[in-house]
Amino acid sequence: ICDYENGEWTNPRIEPLALIPTHPAAMALHYGQAIFEGMKATLGKDGTALLFRPEENAKRMNFSADRMGMPMFPEELFVEALKQFTALEKNWIPTQVGSALYLRPFMYADEPFIGMRAATTYKFIVMASPAGPFFSRKIKLYAEKKYVRAVNGGTGEAKAAGNYAAAIRPTEYAKAKGYDQVLWLDPYTFEYIQEVGTMNIFFKIAGKFITPNLSGSILSGITRMSVIDLLRSKGFEVTERPIKMSEIIEASKNGTLEEAFGTGTAVGIAMVEEIGNNDISIKFPEDNPVSVMVNDTLNAIKVQDSKDEFGWIVEAK
Ligand code: PMP
Repeated sequence: ICDYENGEWTNPRIEPLALIPTHPAAMALHYGQAIFEGMKATLGKDGTALLFRPEENAKRMNFSADRMGMPMFPEELFVEALKQFTALEKNWIPTQVGSALYLRPFMYADEPFIGMRAATTYKFIVMASPAGPFFSRKIKLYAEKKYVRAVNGGTGEAKAAGNYAAAIRPTEYAKAKGYDQVLWLDPYTFEYIQEVGTMNIFFKIAGKFITPNLSGSILSGITRMSVIDLLRSKGFEVTERPIKMSEIIEASKNGTLEEAFGTGTAVGIAMVEEIGNNDISIKFPEDNPVSVMVNDTLNAIKVQDSKDEFGWIVEAK
């Protein structure tokens, strides 16, 4: 925990999990100045706790803070706090393949004030919880044509709590229709694919990978950027560009649609089985060889079973 007061971060401390006293007028509750990150800690070969690209989370948190009118959190302090906390909580890191200790850094406005302006006091907190593996479950995505996640110039590119609040009801509706998550489309034409609830998305068409480009309303996933590098290092062509639903439907019809997967810290790689809504149903082939390879490679790097040739792993000690 760290407090922001009088223009600076003070009093860094590690405390047992406990309730936090909250004033009913705490600004985060009313005006939504609340942002977060999601990270995972794993155990290396010699039992050292490991973090995956924590400096990228530090950068993204500050990107979110800037968009939401919140204070910067020094990036070195962020990484150092995560390292120390993870080293201390090492015994909670599960060892099963694909499992990890989920870490949740977040920042919110705790100043009691009624009125629309940036708060002057904040808390930065990191929580941790063991998390099991997700891979092996395939997901069905509901191509949403009524609700939208993010508009140009909005907060979609920030990891802001409010983005998720807006997604909760549409996700419930999608689940009631038998889908696992929403596939968000652009808010103007409902043609261009943006991302999934808590994941970015990749398609393999005729041997080549495509993923929506960061148009300003998509979260810049750290798994996304890592998977792009990984796929390229394995010789695959990966293009970041706008992708239309009609292109996926066409590829499905002409037999060139090969694989699709979501990427995110919480789930890792999630293979897509179907994309549909009331109008369409796109089924993906049973076999997902590259999805499996990407998942296995990322997992192996995270427990030092495979060489960390990209320099992604940071030791927490
Ligand atoms: N999009 C959204 C909306 C997300 O919440 C997440 C999870 N942080 C992602 C994409 C994937 O990002 P990352 O790979 O950094 O977890």
